[in-house]
Amino acid sequence: MGKVIIIANWKMNPLSLTEAKRIFTDTKKTAQTLRNVQSVVCPPFIYVNELKSLVSGRRCLIGAQDVFFERNGAYTGEISAAMLAKAGIKYVIVGHSEKRTFGETDEVVNKKTLAALKEGLHVVLCVGERERDEHALYFDFIRRELEHALKGVPKNLTHKLLIAYEPIWAIGREAKSADTPAGTFETTLFIRKILAERYDKKMAMNMPILYGGSVNKKNAREFLVHGGVQGLLVGRASLTPAHFAEILKEADRP
Ligand code: PEP
Repeated sequence: MGKVIIIANWKMNPLSLTEAKRIFTDTKKTAQTLRNVQSVVCPPFIYVNELKSLVSGRRCLIGAQDVFFERNGAYTGEISAAMLAKAGIKYVIVGHSEKRTFGETDEVVNKKTLAALKEGLHVVLCVGERERDEHALYFDFIRRELEHALKGVPKNLTHKLLIAYEPIWAIGREAKSADTPAGTFETTLFIRKILAERYDKKMAMNMPILYGGSVNKKNAREFLVHGGVQGLLVGRASLTPAHFAEILKEADRP
């Protein structure tokens, strides 16, 4: 069994570098002590380098929230996978629903996934339905998202891929609630089925799947034990170090 992977997505927070350093330093203090957890903190780009210089050891790394698919050139405002790799970044989130809401298409998610994997980055590929309808059409939605994102991705690049299942209705302040571990378990089976069809059974069974959406210290353990996932993608709760530390400790428990 590999380590449990806990990714902190800070989104567009906090407002200052001083605050970012404080949150990261506090988080690192706990994360460094945990043997069974790989923590990755994904701050806004403007803090990545400074926080990277505070990393010691491998248990608590800095990741990125996004990446562009071209290598370099006239792409104002963008940051490439090659730049991230050269800066020593190892993990990147791709296809987050908040990026998709602002126009990121399946085609762009696919290009970003491919570019980042080719550069040797771990890609945390986010998929998840907007609504959980009673006719289970949301499975078709997840299938489409996954198939688009993985178009042209060869099997030999998938060892650095992680899938984050993030039902949109469960994410953020407006969320109705988190998913249930049982609901997530069902979806992980479905995701593995798609991966097995596309690649093979062994690859599908070994693929790390994370759950994200209103994870907190009370439900983290339940998702890890009963949700069929190997990790968590944590938004809001990752900005409060004491709270996030509890999640990390829950994840470390055997
Ligand atoms: C997220 O945006 O990836 C997320 C999981 O957010 P939250 O934990 O705040 O619901």
